[in-house]
Amino acid sequence: MSDRPPISLRDWHAIDVGQLKGVGDKKRASLAAFDIFNVLDLVTTNPRRWVDRTNEARIADLVPGEEALVLVTVRSVTKRTTRNRRTMVNVNVGDGSGRLDLVFFNQPWRERQLKEGLQVALFGKADTYRGGLQMANPIVDLIGDRTGKIVPIYPQSEKAQLNTWELAGWIEEALRRSSDRGIADPVPSEVRQRLSLIERGPALWSIHGPESIREKEQARRRLAFDELLRVQLSLVIRKRELERSSLGFVHEIGGELVRRFHDALPYPLTAAQVRTIAEIEADLASPNPMHRLLQGDVGAGKTVVAISSLLNAVQGGHQGALMAPTEVLAEQHAAGVRELLGDLSVPDPGNLFGDRPLRVELLTNRVTGTERKEVLAGISDGSIDIAIGTHALIQEGVEFASLGAVVVDEQHRFGVEQRAALRDKSSGHVPDVLVMTATPIPRTAAMTVYGDLDVSVLDELPPGRTPIVTKWANGPLLETEVWNDVRHEVGEGRQAYVVCPLIDESEKLEVASAEETYQRLLHDELEGLRIGLLHGRLTPADKQMTMDLFRSGRLDVLVATTVIEVGVDVPNATMMVILDADRFGIAQLHQLRGRVGRGEHASTCWLVTQEHDAGNPRVEALVASTDGFELAEVDLDLRGEGTLMSTAQKGRSDLKLASLRRDRELVVLAREAAFEIVDADPELADHPVLRDELDLLFTEEDEDFLAKS
Ligand code: ADP
Ligand code: MG
Repeated sequence: MSDRPPISLRDWHAIDVGQLKGVGDKKRASLAAFDIFNVLDLVTTNPRRWVDRTNEARIADLVPGEEALVLVTVRSVTKRTTRNRRTMVNVNVGDGSGRLDLVFFNQPWRERQLKEGLQVALFGKADTYRGGLQMANPIVDLIGDRTGKIVPIYPQSEKAQLNTWELAGWIEEALRRSSDRGIADPVPSEVRQRLSLIERGPALWSIHGPESIREKEQARRRLAFDELLRVQLSLVIRKRELERSSLGFVHEIGGELVRRFHDALPYPLTAAQVRTIAEIEADLASPNPMHRLLQGDVGAGKTVVAISSLLNAVQGGHQGALMAPTEVLAEQHAAGVRELLGDLSVPDPGNLFGDRPLRVELLTNRVTGTERKEVLAGISDGSIDIAIGTHALIQEGVEFASLGAVVVDEQHRFGVEQRAALRDKSSGHVPDVLVMTATPIPRTAAMTVYGDLDVSVLDELPPGRTPIVTKWANGPLLETEVWNDVRHEVGEGRQAYVVCPLIDESEKLEVASAEETYQRLLHDELEGLRIGLLHGRLTPADKQMTMDLFRSGRLDVLVATTVIEVGVDVPNATMMVILDADRFGIAQLHQLRGRVGRGEHASTCWLVTQEHDAGNPRVEALVASTDGFELAEVDLDLRGEGTLMSTAQKGRSDLKLASLRRDRELVVLAREAAFEIVDADPELADHPVLRDELDLLFTEEDEDFLAKS
């Protein structure tokens, strides 16, 4: 053992790969092509596969039609050109148990790659061909003459002239030459022990050269934890910093106004509403500004929770603001909130008669002239209690007397700039912010994507809803039934939406297809019904007119593109037909489906696919569940986390081994550990190695990005 401190990630970062044996200029360039410049880059380049020599299928065990991995030796290679001028490389391989033919089409270079005597790992599907077994275009990994029970296989590239065994060799050399000083482990040992995590040094050895698959798994868990812990530390440090550096309002909770509001509601709150209101009120009562996300499915009753929060601020003589992503939604909110508040009055000790009416005003770009002047004056003199509008509410020259709480009904993100704008608005005190979203994302994903927010979840729908029945019209035969169903529903006095195929490539094509569907339904399947058409290329006035006709019941069927996704609320519409449903994602289907099931009558959602389909996991998930959170989990499983983390995050802070999908448990543990560490040691003064790793691995932009999400 040397008396120098153990090697840190920064030490490795400072060593150029050129220092390793056999890495000259040429190999340095090859490594650079893989973004490997220093020893840290090298040792964190993980195998993409581990081949278990003792346990892989042998040729004799291959089953025709099933995918499998075999470890074989190349026996012979021939290349020829077929009559239609395609190249075909035939390779015969064998292991102790038998022989197998491979065929590669249009990969002439395989002739050079696969030399006789070479050991390779093959992954593919074997089929019977002329009495023997054959694999066509399998995935080939050259594994060289490496020994050991488990062979790690690294990303490799013919073009970059880099082989998996070369990488393995350099990594081994780097680890070996580090063993004298030892490898620093920044995770506190209590945390490590409690979570049964192995030490970093052994974990690195094991990920690159495990003795068993189990050992590799333990190593992966430990190293994945490191990645998640760093992300969480960065988020939690930022969150705590913001809380410390900004002074919030200490709202008085449970006042008369809020009590009156709850008493006047025509229904009791759901248990989930009671719980989230309590979570929010705890934040409101604390001097730290609230920054909380309220997740809840469409129809979960977020509005009541939001208004209840704002009224706490109003009660104390401050103002509330509700911001929507569009003007139309702001208008709808204003109408909805006014109705919800009824003739609620504010207890006012300064008024001889004790009470004054609660004042709610809308401010959008459509509010102009004297009306606008009056609203702006009311906002700045404090006579308006609740202002409703778009994000412009907190920007262009709108002065609040005392803005105490803000609710953001968001589709997109409410980021750092907006928060900064709020701070500027409020001369010292930062208002409490509640962000609402109707797009549920899984809890562990929320911890990363919204990691500097607290999260409340409305996971219960108010009682008395008739659940939406979802059916799959799989193929043309069943489509007839769909249109019969629509006619039947219209016959009962109900209305229906027909959503036309999503065409990502072109709005023009999408509109054309909607027009075509409209004409077809009008003259054929739904002849005789009153049908309207809504798409993104109509003028706002035409859109408005069509929506008004549908809302007032003068149209039976609304044929539309996905423009109806947000904000349309027609309780009498009980049927949703989504054409080419397989072109939509789970979240979008769920949002669209949420347009029905808003009234007293039972609703149906038909998912139509054109060709008969043996199975479609997304459509099947929608049929099986109406629970947005459950669907979000399925979505994450089907699509992977790439869809959650923006591409901008694919820098150093990227998760290499950890997966938000596979490592749900680990995300929670990492977040808990991060809070524990930061709350005991906010600047990480007692954890210098950890602090240094964050400084090394997260650039300022990375941190901003993580926090902004
Ligand atoms: P969200 O914004 O979450 O989609 P809303 O706040 O618009 O949901 O509420 C949907 C509907 O449910 C509204 O008509 C509302 O009046 C009703 N609602 C809300 N809370 C309850 C409750 N506790 N019991 C019964 N109905 C409720
Ligand atoms: Mg709503």
